[in-house]
Amino acid sequence: MKPIFCYQVPVVVGSGISGGAIAMMDSDIVIYDKGRILGGRVSSKTKDSVSYDFGATMFRDLMEVHWLGGETEYSISEIWSSKQVQFPTKPIYDQFHFYPTKGMSDLVSGMMGKVKPIQGHTLKRIESPDKETWNLEFYNSETKVSEWISTHNVILTLPIPQILEIFNRSEEDPKLERWADFLEPFNDYRRTLVSYFYWDKWKPNWKSLSLDPSLSIPITTTLERGIDWEYQSWESIKYPDEFEKGSALLVQFGSKFSEAHYEDWMDENRNPTEKYKDYLLHGLREKFDAPPPNLIWNHRWKYAQARMPLLGKEGPLRLDTESFSEWKSLCKETRITILGDWLFGSKIERIIGGIYFLSHNGLL
Ligand SMILES: Cc1cc2nc3c(=O)[nH]c(=O)nc-3n(C[C@H](O)[C@H](O)[C@H](O)COP(=O)(O)OP(=O)(O)OC[C@H]3O[C@@H](n4cnc5c(N)ncnc54)[C@H](O)[C@@H]3O)c2cc1C
Repeated sequence: MKPIFCYQVPVVVGSGISGGAIAMMDSDIVIYDKGRILGGRVSSKTKDSVSYDFGATMFRDLMEVHWLGGETEYSISEIWSSKQVQFPTKPIYDQFHFYPTKGMSDLVSGMMGKVKPIQGHTLKRIESPDKETWNLEFYNSETKVSEWISTHNVILTLPIPQILEIFNRSEEDPKLERWADFLEPFNDYRRTLVSYFYWDKWKPNWKSLSLDPSLSIPITTTLERGIDWEYQSWESIKYPDEFEKGSALLVQFGSKFSEAHYEDWMDENRNPTEKYKDYLLHGLREKFDAPPPNLIWNHRWKYAQARMPLLGKEGPLRLDTESFSEWKSLCKETRITILGDWLFGSKIERIIGGIYFLSHNGLL
């Protein structure tokens, strides 16, 4: 095995919101990702000329960090301004939440700036030939060939199970073993099944759903934790220009439902399997008095959200903890930094604000 590139800059794996925030802080990096498009769990899709978000649907502008006894509040939009990152956003739900008017994936591409991630490359193995170097093996899905590259510093932003798979495939290495042991308590993710419905000539009765698209800050979502149709986001209110006559709804199903129905949820074209098609049509009729939609598109997120993040799920990121000190030491001593929602919590603002804070304070 001979590396085809020897990078003198850090190699980041993952072009999701974490990868984007890292690129915003320092463009002197290289990013690899296995997906065809960037964004990871903050992705938008265009189908039949309408776009919609099928992962995250909005973000909060404010977050807080507690460190060395001090408390600092950050506004994500101010962080973007300070880094010359620009894309139009609109308020949604209340005055603290926003979404980019061209789709959530704009968040990621906006922060990437001039960094162009190398997509379609799956990290398979990671090995350290000497104290200073990491060799990484990527499978290139276009050429169907493996490529080795080398670097001095690696940043992994994947969900923990995907990282452990890579470590298990790699040669035994005490540094990887230390990381695997450290990550174990945080390796807990919920699954989420998703359905997207599109009607070209039908709109719901907004009043009966207690929604009002004409408000200056429209409420577009309903959340009832624990029920099957847990989270409903009327994407057509977010992107009104694309839905003059029709409408679109994104449903994220509850965790119990998603766990139980994960395997048979969709066919290879992401259409619902027969069993679920009837179930979905029935649900639409019951809940919204909706006719059968022109399009149903299903998706499933295996590692949707980290359940046990090291820095907490909600509230400020609390960095004055032993486990955070251990995280810092591991990053330094192994030359591998591992971060993502298992560290900051599954919220866009926590990840962006967290990476900004770490980078600003020389911790990244
Ligand atoms: C359905 C859903 C709804 C959500 N709603 C919201 C919301 O409204 N607001 C909010 O704040 N948060 C929301 N979240 C959470 C938020 O989307 C995530 O916390 C965040 O996007 C995680 O970003 P990340 O970059 O850390 O990870 P990811 O987005 O998962 O990025 C990791 C990247 O690594 C790549 N990858 C994986 N394995 C490999 C490999 N072996 N080699 C190379 N690349 C690899 C993947 O392709 C991916 O692009 C939601 C999440 C889901 C799933």
